[in-house]
Amino acid sequence: GNAVTLDIHRDDELGELAREIYTLSEELEHLKNERTEFLSSVSHELRTPLTYLKGYADILNRPNLSVEDREKFASIIQEEATQLTEMVKELFLLAKMDKNQFSISKEEIPLCDFLKEIVSKLTPAFMEKNISLQLICAKDIYVNIDPIRFRQVINNLLDNARKYSSESTSVEVVVHEQKYGVSIDVRDQGEGIPEKDLPYIWERLYRVDKSRSRALGGTGLGLAIVKEIVELHGGTVEVKSVLGEGTTFTINISR
Ligand code: ADP
Repeated sequence: GNAVTLDIHRDDELGELAREIYTLSEELEHLKNERTEFLSSVSHELRTPLTYLKGYADILNRPNLSVEDREKFASIIQEEATQLTEMVKELFLLAKMDKNQFSISKEEIPLCDFLKEIVSKLTPAFMEKNISLQLICAKDIYVNIDPIRFRQVINNLLDNARKYSSESTSVEVVVHEQKYGVSIDVRDQGEGIPEKDLPYIWERLYRVDKSRSRALGGTGLGLAIVKEIVELHGGTVEVKSVLGEGTTFTINISR
């Protein structure tokens, strides 16, 4: 009959079409695997705090519990619940981004003033670890950004800088005017990130050290959100890190 076979080895347009279909189906398969993997990580991640919650809630019911223990366990429950809420919030945000239901509305913002406000709000948390937090921003440059979304970007980067730094170090936010626009560095003198992990830190739920991140209240979603938001602004974000010396994240945006 007239049936044609789509053979990837054919040396004509049909072969080309067959190869394209083949590539697409491989990509689809890959995406399906990624989705399955992501879903199983999510359920694992959600189960961990839930297990703690249930465990400590059970203990609270025990008779003869001292007041101190009761308070201790209650505060653990509170922390775990907060972390769970945070993670669910971030997952929703990423899902919204995936469905293109996340919009940004840009405004002309004076960058130095904008950063100054964020930095001063975060200073008390840095003081708890005796980390000096400095903003170096010479002249006021106007940038076209969504202030609410961009605040989250800076917050996430600074939050990481604080979490992964030891006491009495310093963290700097440095703004440079560039030909293409402006760059913002967030520099810390923290533990650094192993080179082999660097390509993956932007992935959802990826953490260099799972238990350490969890203990510090991390969700493994912060950098994925940073990258999405910066890219929605038409910008880029890069990382440079030296193990044991520190990490610098650089955001580049045009004006
Ligand atoms: P988390 O909630 O675990 O901090 P992120 O997505 O914000 O998740 O970061 C992913 C991982 O990258 C972290 O778990 C940590 O291992 C590493 N990381 C991020 N920022 C830093 C930093 N400033 N210094 C060292 N490691 C970092």
